[in-house]
Amino acid sequence: TPFSALGLHDALLRAVKDSGYENATEVQAQAIPPALTGADLMVSSRTGSGKTASFILPALQQVLTARAERAAGNKTKTIGPRVLVLAPTRELAMQVAKSAMTYGRHIQGLRVATVLGGMPYAHQLRALSGHLDILIATPGRLLDHINSGRCKLENVTMFVLDEADRMLDMGFIDDINFVAEQIPATRQTLMYSATFAGNTGRLAAQLMKDPQRIDV
Ligand code: AMP
Repeated sequence: TPFSALGLHDALLRAVKDSGYENATEVQAQAIPPALTGADLMVSSRTGSGKTASFILPALQQVLTARAERAAGNKTKTIGPRVLVLAPTRELAMQVAKSAMTYGRHIQGLRVATVLGGMPYAHQLRALSGHLDILIATPGRLLDHINSGRCKLENVTMFVLDEADRMLDMGFIDDINFVAEQIPATRQTLMYSATFAGNTGRLAAQLMKDPQRIDV
């Protein structure tokens, strides 16, 4: 499937092309169109399948839509990020942030921040205090920032859980539920996991509304 058939904004298509990609991978072709319509998705796919772009491109499209609304004079809240991505590890979160910058390279003034365990607080606090489009976080450290009142999630319209099964294996279930409670219920939720058996399936049922299932 060519990327140009998926409904992506021109600024995103240009960035994809800059990366040398013409055709979407299977997970991208299946997840991007419903993600752009606002559907909740539960997606099983492996690392290496191109799953990061399958949620970061729709996330960037949300950022572009929000900008267009603001430019048209609609009163949109500007506090806190528009998109929140939770990932199990620092390494994965940094990869997601890198993808966001790569595919968002033609979005002027795009602000992507990371909030990661084991990293100094000062820099993260600075990133959280200004205008922010996309926040990528590990659950424990994000909880610290929410509890100290420094991270507001009331403006989040897209919530992504990457490698949810690993986050549950690491004992983040209560943290994830707490974070989810801070985000308006009208949000779109995309959940990625190797499996949706047991606890991961229960979490999916709690966090999503009529999710579409994508298995590649
Ligand atoms: P991921 O599964 O998200 O970790 O991506 C695995 C690798 O595939 C990354 O190095 C991406 O840059 C690359 N990739 C993502 N989308 C495509 C695509 N449509 N065609 C070829 N490679 C891709």
